[in-house]
Amino acid sequence: MKIGHVEIGGNKVVTMAGPCSVESPEQIEQCAEIAAKGGAQVLRGGAFKPRSSPYSFQGLGEEGLKLMRAAADRNGLLMVSEVMDSTQIPLLCEYSDILQLGARNMQNFNLLRAVGQVRKPVLLKRGIAATIEELLLAAEYVMSGGNYEVILCERGIRTFETYTRNTMDIAAIPVVKKLSHLPIIGDPSHGTGRRDMVLPMARAAVAAGADGLIVEVHPDPDHAMSDGAQTITPEQFYEMMHKVRAVANAVGRIA
Ligand code: PEP
Ligand code: MN
Repeated sequence: MKIGHVEIGGNKVVTMAGPCSVESPEQIEQCAEIAAKGGAQVLRGGAFKPRSSPYSFQGLGEEGLKLMRAAADRNGLLMVSEVMDSTQIPLLCEYSDILQLGARNMQNFNLLRAVGQVRKPVLLKRGIAATIEELLLAAEYVMSGGNYEVILCERGIRTFETYTRNTMDIAAIPVVKKLSHLPIIGDPSHGTGRRDMVLPMARAAVAAGADGLIVEVHPDPDHAMSDGAQTITPEQFYEMMHKVRAVANAVGRIA
C-alpha cells in the first residue's frame, strides 16, 4: 500500500517514530528532526490520548495535530495520530496521513465502521486481550466499509507476566502474514513498556517479518508527559535504526 511517497508492505521496513504525546511546539519539532535524522518515514504522536487515569495528561487536541502536521511537513515525514471516537474523524482526516485506532478501541465496532467510511489509511493496533482472529475481524469491519488500507500492529497483549508491561507476541507477525494480505508492524515500546527492551524486540519483530516498526522516542524521555519508561532517547533510536537495518538485510529486506 502506498501512502504519499511511502510504501508499506513492500520490501522496505518502514519506521514510524515520535513521542507518545505531542507536548509542545519545541518537543514535536525536535522529535520530528530526530525521527527524520534516524531514517524514519512517519512521525507518530498522540493529540487525543487514551489514558488509564482521567487525571493524567489527555493530549493537546487540535492544537497538537496542528503542531504535529507542521513538524512532519518541515521534516519530510508523514504523520500518524490516534482517533479515539468517531466525532474526531473529520479533524484527524484534515491533519493526519494515517488514522491510528488504539488497542483500547480495537473492538469498538462503531468506530471501526466509521473509519471504514473514510479514505484514509488506518493503523489498527491489537487489543490488550484480543486474539489474532479478533484483530483480523476488526480489520474486516474497516474494510467492509470500503476502506481497504489497513495496517495491523502487534503492540503486546496482557498475560500473567509482569516484568514487561505487555507480552509482545512476535509469533502474531508470521501468523498474520500467513492468514492475511495486510501489512503488519511491531510496536516494541508498548509491547514491552521498557526502554531497555525496545531494541531487542524491534530486531525480533523485523526478523519475524514485520513490515515496519512504531517506536516512542523523545529528546528527554524521563520528563515525557506519557509513557516515558518505554520511550527511548535519540541516541538509542539512532542505534536501533542502525541495528535493525542489519537484521532487515539478513532477512532479505531493506530498512
Ligand atoms: C500509543 O500508541 O501511544 C497508544 C496509546 O497505543 P496502544 O493503543 O497500543 O496502547
Ligand atoms: Mn504511548
